Formats: sequence, structure tokens, C-alpha cells
Amino acid sequence: IIPVLTIDGPSGAGKGTVSRAVAKLLDWNYLDSGSIYRSLAIAVLQVGIALDDLPAITQLAKEMQLGFECGESLLVRLNGVDITAQLGTETTGNAASIVAAYPEVRAVLLQKQKDFRKAPGLVADGRDMGSVVFPDAPFKVYLTASAEERASRRYKQLIEKGIDANLAQITREIEERDRRDSGRAAAPLTVPEGAITIDSSSLSIQQVIDAVMDLVR
Ligand code: C5P
Repeated sequence: IIPVLTIDGPSGAGKGTVSRAVAKLLDWNYLDSGSIYRSLAIAVLQVGIALDDLPAITQLAKEMQLGFECGESLLVRLNGVDITAQLGTETTGNAASIVAAYPEVRAVLLQKQKDFRKAPGLVADGRDMGSVVFPDAPFKVYLTASAEERASRRYKQLIEKGIDANLAQITREIEERDRRDSGRAAAPLTVPEGAITIDSSSLSIQQVIDAVMDLVR
């Protein structure tokens, strides 16, 4: 049976950075499940479907063809077109969290995520990796940090990129996203059964990576 390490937690806790680093160290495959919901959100916005038109969104989720290339960084193709540049925007993230709240959408995307489980192993990053998609995973981490710390990291990233940002607004958006991801009926963000919780608020990325590697070794 192919081992899976699940890393779940709220937005901005460092899951992506840690998951990619650990996948590389272990030489395992990597699933960025958020990018699947983000890709669907991009498709919905592109086609001009309303975010409450569930039948059309579900249909789009069934039809969309996704391609992932894990090189230096993750490259994502939607129906053959490179959408990597739009993947990380706040507009995409917010729309992703809206479409992700529909159970019908989650059901359609479930198998696409399970298909990432390939030898020699998988690091799966998301909200419900340990609870819904890979409940039998032998290694489960819940990675979190305070909303203030997550907002301030995001703020620094934007400033470093030369993008104008407002810390108070980012904090509000993170808190709103937390509420939506935790308060929804379908696969709400929770600590999966059997997961160890790591609070990264006062840890460096390297310290988190070390803690996760200790768990898997
Ligand atoms: O992790 P990321 O910020 O890329 O995820 C974008 C949105 O997709 C999240 O806010 C969440 O609502 C949704 N998501 C989800 N389940 C996952 C991964 C992401 O519902 N496994």
C-alpha cells in the first residue's frame, strides 16, 4: 500500500512550502489540492458562470482537464492552457473557497485527488486530506498558525513582490476565509483523526520541516 502524508490546515499556515520541501526530501509525489479548487474557480470565472450556479459549476468540474507539472515550481494547465499566473491571486482564492463549499463539487473532485496516490508515496496538502480524501493515511499533520501571524506573512510576501498591501485588510480576508472553510457543512476544516498538530506561529519553516520529517522517519 502506497504511503500518504497529509498536511491540512488553514490558509497561510505554510502548508505549501512545507509540503513541497518534504515531498522533495522524501522523493514522493505532491498533491496541492487547493490548486484543484483554484483551477475550477478560474474556469468558472473565465466562462462567466455565476458562483451560485451549482449545476453549471458541477458540470464544469466534471469536464475540466487539469495538467500538473512539478518542476522548480508547480505549473498548472487548464484544458491545455497554462494558468499558473492566475492561480495565486486573492480573487482566485476567494472564488475557490466559494465553489469548494458545495458538496456536489467536492464529490466530483474526489477521485481526481485520489489518483495522485502513486508510488513511492504522496504528500497531500489541503483542508480535508486526512479526514476525507486519504483517511487511511499513516502520517497526518495539522499545520496551523495564528490569524495575525498568517496575515503578516502574506503581507510580507506581497511587499517583497512590490505589490501594495494593507495588513488590516489581509487579516480580515484571512479571518473571513477561515470562517468560510470551518463553518461550511461539506468537509469543514477540522483536525483529522490521528493528526499531530503543529503550530507554526513561532517556528521557522526549517523547524516545521524537521518536525514533519521526524514523524515520517
Ligand atoms: O489552500 P488554498 O488556499 O490553495 O485553497 C483555496 C481554497 O480551496 C480554500 O480556501 C478552501 O476553501 C478550498 N480547499 C478545500 N479543500 C482542500 C483544499 C482547498 O476546500 N482540500
